[in-house]
Amino acid sequence: MMGDLKNRARESFLNFLADKKLRITSQRQAIVDSVFSTEEHFTAEQLLDWARVRDKSVSRATVYRTLPLLVESGMVREMDFGKDYKFYDPNYLDHPNHHHIICQDCEKIVEFESEKITKIEAEISHKLGFSVASQRLQITGNCEELKKMGGCKNHPCPSNEH
Ligand SMILES: [Zn+2]
Ligand SMILES: [Zn+2]
Repeated sequence: MMGDLKNRARESFLNFLADKKLRITSQRQAIVDSVFSTEEHFTAEQLLDWARVRDKSVSRATVYRTLPLLVESGMVREMDFGKDYKFYDPNYLDHPNHHHIICQDCEKIVEFESEKITKIEAEISHKLGFSVASQRLQITGNCEELKKMGGCKNHPCPSNEH
């Protein structure tokens, strides 16, 4: 079921590229296949690694050119956690109302949904004469490991040359 939704998202993105008269090269195909076969939140560098497993010739430039198109198509959402780089989330189509908590050390991201928060959003919007179009809640925190050990083993790779 989930796979179906991802496949449809993949199809609509390919149509989106076709509408823009953009060619679907094998590099771009490898990037698209990587994006629509994961439920993980990823950075541009992570996406580059994944795409290169599928096609060694994928260039960093192609990844950085394709990401804004993915965001523009609405199939992937860009998230800013105040780092030097953005995270990308492929899960909004399946779970349009989810929120995130991120560890400030290892950058582990956990998704959550809360009916309470949804209610509060509706209440506040209603009170102010709005209706909710979209929302994002991001909590930065300390994961279990950081709390216990004072540091996390799995640091994100600092390689961020672009
Ligand atoms: Zn998410
Ligand atoms: Zn951590």
